[in-house]
Amino acid sequence: MPESALMAAGPVTTGLIGLPIAHSLSPALHHAAFRACGLPDNYALWPTEADQLPARVSALRQPPMRGANVTIPHKSAALALVDALDPVAQAIGAVNTIVRQADGSLLGLNTDSAGFVAALQQADFDPSGRNIVLLGAGGAARAVAHGLIAHGARCLTVVNRTAEHAESLLADLLAATPYDPDLFILAPNDPDLPDLLRVANLLVNATPVGRDDRSLPLPPTMLHAQLLVCDLLYRSTPLLRAAQAAGAHTQDGLEMLVQQATLAFTAWTGYAAPVDVMRAAGEQARATAHS
Ligand code: NAP
Repeated sequence: MPESALMAAGPVTTGLIGLPIAHSLSPALHHAAFRACGLPDNYALWPTEADQLPARVSALRQPPMRGANVTIPHKSAALALVDALDPVAQAIGAVNTIVRQADGSLLGLNTDSAGFVAALQQADFDPSGRNIVLLGAGGAARAVAHGLIAHGARCLTVVNRTAEHAESLLADLLAATPYDPDLFILAPNDPDLPDLLRVANLLVNATPVGRDDRSLPLPPTMLHAQLLVCDLLYRSTPLLRAAQAAGAHTQDGLEMLVQQATLAFTAWTGYAAPVDVMRAAGEQARATAHS
């Protein structure tokens, strides 16, 4: 969608901080939401280098700013630039949404965790008591693991090429976990992975593997029809196509993006987010981007 078609009337009050962000779907979601709610607001793209981040965040303290989304590579650095953190952002170690409070102070949230769980609900999947394999241990995997454990997952296996990243993910999250799930860390080539996947209910790809539309994060022979397979990439991927061929249910990352955006929109405006409008805008923007 051309940038001009995404512009709504009114002052800029929210936006996206990150780099690169030119191809983000977030503006389409938020402009559609502001329009549907009759709010004369606007959502800007704020491409931001690391050394510009403190000033960019500080500018959110002034009216009429309501806040911002934060994306790669600034989600961790934003932690130290807000005045208060909600416990989810604290546990994950990343801020993806900043909300300006009435007194001008800034609250840091992480809506990726609840957004992922809400996306699972759209796929009729309840993590409680389930057996889950998570590929990746970066920022997105942290949010996913937090959401799964907060909703009662019984067994979580983190598969990552760098073991220390998986170890620190689980150590950070366990500190805030009120029960005792079974937790495992495996290398991608671990011989136990096929057996673990055989009894898994959910497989989540939180790595960028598949972005090239050719690579698979694991052999397709490990997939089966009892799995829900989620890929956080925003479109069909080789993993999702292989999962469909194996008879599994699948979900790409657009629903998580939409659900986390609804939570940010409500935090900024106090309005119930028009989720169907936002999803349709995201689908349209994605189709235009790939046409
Ligand atoms: P990140 O913090 O850079 O983490 C990337 C993870 O993928 C790390 O665990 C990394 O392993 C692993 N990885 C990277 N390249 C790999 C490769 N070639 N082979 C195997 N593992 C590899 O990135 P992130 O922010 O978590 O994002 C991960 C993915 O989620 C991206 O595709 C992003 O677009 C997507 N995402 C989607 C949403 C959504 O709303 N749908 C939200 C956030 C992110 P090491 O630890 O070994 O480096």
